[in-house]
Amino acid sequence: MGRIAMTNEELWKAVLGQIELSISKANFITWFKNTGILSNQDGVVTIGVPNGFAKEWLENKYNLYILRALKSFDENIKDIHCVIASGKPGLPLPMMDSIKNVDAVKPPEHTGFVRKKLIEKPFFTTTGPSTPEFHETNLNSRYTFENFIVAENNELARAACYAVSQNLGMAYNPLFIYGGVGLGKTHLLQSIGNEVMKNSPEKRIKYINSERFTTELVDSIKNQKIDKFKEYYQQMDLLIIDDIQFLSGREKTQNEFFHIFNALYQINKQIVISSDRPPKAIPTLEERLRSRFEGGMITDISRPNLETRIAILEAKIAERGFIIDTPAIRFIAENITQNIRELEGALNRVIAFCEFHRVSPTLENTGEILSQLIENNKKTIQTDDIFRVVSEFYNVTKEDLIKKGRKKEISHPRQVMMFILRTELQAPFSTIGELLGGRDHTTALHAFEKIHKNKDVHPRLKEELNTLKERLYYPV
Ligand code: ADP
Ligand code: MG
Repeated sequence: MGRIAMTNEELWKAVLGQIELSISKANFITWFKNTGILSNQDGVVTIGVPNGFAKEWLENKYNLYILRALKSFDENIKDIHCVIASGKPGLPLPMMDSIKNVDAVKPPEHTGFVRKKLIEKPFFTTTGPSTPEFHETNLNSRYTFENFIVAENNELARAACYAVSQNLGMAYNPLFIYGGVGLGKTHLLQSIGNEVMKNSPEKRIKYINSERFTTELVDSIKNQKIDKFKEYYQQMDLLIIDDIQFLSGREKTQNEFFHIFNALYQINKQIVISSDRPPKAIPTLEERLRSRFEGGMITDISRPNLETRIAILEAKIAERGFIIDTPAIRFIAENITQNIRELEGALNRVIAFCEFHRVSPTLENTGEILSQLIENNKKTIQTDDIFRVVSEFYNVTKEDLIKKGRKKEISHPRQVMMFILRTELQAPFSTIGELLGGRDHTTALHAFEKIHKNKDVHPRLKEELNTLKERLYYPV
């Protein structure tokens, strides 16, 4: 197939038509509204987007969808690129303003749910000893947006949470945040609750994790208070359920949750959910719940890269009124890579040690204090792991990397390979040369120095190296 003659506008319409089929409606509207093709030249399509948020999202999350769709109409297209185009007069944007936002927040008309009249008076204002414990907001004032550090790994999730806190039930509903342990999900969820409580103390807010929710439900069934339980939850303005993956497999709980969810959703009450993985990947999550979640906004928090870890440490150190010199901070960030909870733990250890011994943290003592932690943290990797990760990443074979030849497509991955062998395994340059097809040690040294120098001037290369390292230590 060659190129089908189409105007940019027609091409974009066709592309959107395809993308719409593969992502949720709310996401489609959120991210593709007011976008358009600005130019299509030399295999690069430039897409105009209304703001930085959309740019980030389209380039990072929907890049492949867009490229795949574009290629199906014009196989010469190799890459996309987004620019913020709103507010620049004169740009011929064939924007998708026909997409209207209203559907994103409007509850579906037919859910089979009979709307219940809301009980206006607050529930459980007087609590006797036999009253169930579920009248508290469960908010912890320690978690706020103010002390949440925004970085590339969490800014979308943070923005979505903040938008929700400013506009309950209207921005994104439900909002579903997922990500691995210790990455800040609970912090963000709690921040929404605290923010709403600060601005609108009359709102009814409930934060609960799904295990506790299940226990309360089981208790209320036992005590014949299930109606009260449901009624109580159904009056919330904001219901936050943390770690929903634990509902998986519990049919009865899922069923009750579904009804509560629907009751709230029907009247535009806000629901926020977190999980350690996206709804699709939660086994035995009832289909109807899954599709409810997917009808809202889903965003993830990913692992922080080195820069982010340094920024988080610096902020936490400042918060504590402590001073740690830069090399020591860098050392912690380079070695504690899993998540922010561990990063905080490491920092606490260093601070506690130094306070106890009345010494200031230096690179040396930080290394000693954390040595055990780091030992546990670092998975041992082998030469073959590096070959695999590099080949996969650059789409070349191990043989390509080894054989003679200086083609640019291969020489860059080969130099990166040498660099990583050096930084991660501390391999001697002579060994590195041998591993890569019996090359001279000076070749390995030269490659190492080149990448080492370039990474500081080319952010893209730095990003590549971060990704490779991450894949090396945390294979998906
Ligand atoms: P999760 O719920 O994803 O397992 P948490 O929200 O419990 O993770 O976060 C773990 C710890 O890291 C908490 O103490 C939290 O305050 C902190 N934390 C996580 N992300 C950030 C961030 N971006 N800024 C400040 N602290 C953070
Ligand atoms: Mg949590």
